[in-house]
Amino acid sequence: HASSKQPPLPSPLRFSKFFQSNMRILVTGGAGFIGSHLVDRLMENEKNEVIVADNYFTGSKDNLKKWIGHPRFELIRHDVTEPLLIEVDQIYHLACPASPIFYKYNPVKTIKTNVIGTLNMLGLAKRVGARILLTSTSEVYGDPLVHPQPESYWGNVNPIGVRSCYDEGKRVAETLMFDYHRQHGLEIRIARIFNTYGPRMNIDDGRVVSNFIAQALRGESLTVQSPGTQTRSFCYVSDLVDGLIRLMGGSDTGPINLGNPGEFTMLELAETVKELINPDVEIKIVENTPDDPRQRKPDITKAKALLDWEPQVKLRDGLPLMEEDFRLRLGVDKKN
Ligand code: NAD
Ligand code: UDP
Ligand code: UDP
Repeated sequence: HASSKQPPLPSPLRFSKFFQSNMRILVTGGAGFIGSHLVDRLMENEKNEVIVADNYFTGSKDNLKKWIGHPRFELIRHDVTEPLLIEVDQIYHLACPASPIFYKYNPVKTIKTNVIGTLNMLGLAKRVGARILLTSTSEVYGDPLVHPQPESYWGNVNPIGVRSCYDEGKRVAETLMFDYHRQHGLEIRIARIFNTYGPRMNIDDGRVVSNFIAQALRGESLTVQSPGTQTRSFCYVSDLVDGLIRLMGGSDTGPINLGNPGEFTMLELAETVKELINPDVEIKIVENTPDDPRQRKPDITKAKALLDWEPQVKLRDGLPLMEEDFRLRLGVDKKN
């Protein structure tokens, strides 16, 4: 089916595809943490054909192993900074490293992924007339001066800092989405995702929930970065995926915040992990990294009203589900 020069289908035909035949869906970054859970959910619908394009920088085939060989599934090794010529009806554009240690590892590549990668996916969406959803981030609010953060807040972002490749990159990606929407009439959706956790997170990606759970299971001290009073709001991955699918299916372009409004300090998170997973470990305060936002909590009024969405899984219920997955991967028994 992949043909480079095929013109977009005339709109009545394209429209009918939404009601009659299969929906062909591209998920960029589908081998990653959120992407692979999204693929699982999309594959449950027998009318969906799913194509994943991923360069395996932070993702892995392992996350998709149950779909490899399935007739409705296809996996392509592809870097989104290169053009991609395929025919699809919808694009979930997730490709981008999400964890600070990975996006800071090659910042120039990160910004290329955000800017050129998003441009390419918009060019593809334009050519084939697909609806495209961008997974933006709460980092577009930077170190916010408004709390909690509504979508109307423009943010407080350092343009030349070490996180800028990611947060400014996502801000440009959002700009590109809206310019293609206004200039070329593209159907766009933008989700601003707040911290998400769950099974299949990279064990050593340096993020706070994966760090604390791995440390608790290995019997190491939980490393709270100073001062420890900074806050985050953690959304379980199944809730997040549900929000993404509702956003894609709905009629609002966004941006829409998707996150769990339950707000915790990093010290509270450490106490909770200690209590639930390993009461014997210590909590120690270590040095923080530059530009660390002091507080973050989504205002999800818009998602509730427009998508009828709100998270169902509480932190105390989600952490044990992630613990199970980490135990298996780290080979640590329950008795430990
Ligand atoms: P992840 O690192 O697990 O997944 C990203 C995937 O993109 C990986 O499979 C990686 O190999 C792939 N990728 C990276 N660069 C690529 C490129 N140039 N070409 C093709 N593939 C590429 O991260 P995640 O947590 O699953 O995040 C998915 C998306 O959600 C990202 O866009 C991220 O910015 C966004 N997001 C995540 C969170 C979170 O808390 N996890 C929060 C806000 C936004
Ligand atoms: N593009 C792509 N797949 C397509 C169509 C376009 O990857 O099916 C890329 C293309 O290489 C270009 C980008 O998307 O770099 C933007 O495309 P657009 O047509 O909007 O702009 P133009 O090619 O006119 O600069
Ligand atoms: N953090 C921590 N200990 C760790 C890793 C992170 O206390 O081992 C803190 C970090 O300083 C930040 C918060 O946890 O305040 C969330 O960090 P993460 O990298 O998970 O996400 P982000 O900063 O992107 O929200």
